[in-house]
Amino acid sequence: MITDRPSASVSVGADPFLLLILSSPSGAGKTTLSRRLLARFPALRFSVSHTTRKPRGGEVNGSDYHFVTRPQFDTLVENDAFIEWAEVHGNRYGTALCEIDRARAEPGCAGMIFDIDHQGARQIRAKKPDSVAVFILPPSMTELHRRLRGRASESEEIVLRRFQAAKIEISHYGLFDYLIVNDDVDTAFRHLEAVVLAERSRRSRRADLAEQLLRAGTLS
Ligand code: ADP
Ligand code: 5GP
Repeated sequence: MITDRPSASVSVGADPFLLLILSSPSGAGKTTLSRRLLARFPALRFSVSHTTRKPRGGEVNGSDYHFVTRPQFDTLVENDAFIEWAEVHGNRYGTALCEIDRARAEPGCAGMIFDIDHQGARQIRAKKPDSVAVFILPPSMTELHRRLRGRASESEEIVLRRFQAAKIEISHYGLFDYLIVNDDVDTAFRHLEAVVLAERSRRSRRADLAEQLLRAGTLS
């Protein structure tokens, strides 16, 4: 018999815990949009990466990044502490497995946001096929350059290096489920919000609830 219902004997759902990957060329607006997303969805947590990059003015250790030395980073790699890691713009960045475990164990936590590059996105997607990957595009290369320069926390050399790497980052857009253009920030945010709302309602994330309802007893 052909049925449109999955077998009730197996768990039909994807992991309801949302793993949301945000990538973009540097300066396109990931940090801006992820901060807004965290304010809008308090049940989501930001995955604080480890990096060998030096802190920018105003960045807080343990909150923006875990700032570590290169030997410390390499020891973490040797100990398989990362779900993914990569070299980006001459520094190393990685997502510690314990970040995800900690968030999962936290009551009421519904998912995590990963601000990572395409190499990290590829590694997480390979290990967590249920993850959702969003790529933020700048409206133009000219505007991207303006934003990179406007950040004012980096030297002209670093700005140029990041700008030159932008097209390589963009060339990996095919890895992502959604492409969002960050021209007007409010519009871009609305689109990102819509992705989160839609992904929460994805059938595979809600199927276990549907099956529970079907198994529930009737009122006597
Ligand atoms: P990323 O995290 O991708 O490197 P940021 O969020 O730090 O990018 O944004 C880079 C710069 O561009 C910041 O100065 C930010 O305030 C600015 N910015 C972000 N989104 C917009 C936008 N839609 N319009 C104009 N400026 C923006
Ligand atoms: P920034 O130095 O501007 O904070 O980040 C530079 C790049 O590194 C960005 O593309 C950012 O998404 C990426 N990045 C930050 N954390 C991680 C991480 O844990 N893993 C990977 N692969 N990339 C990261």
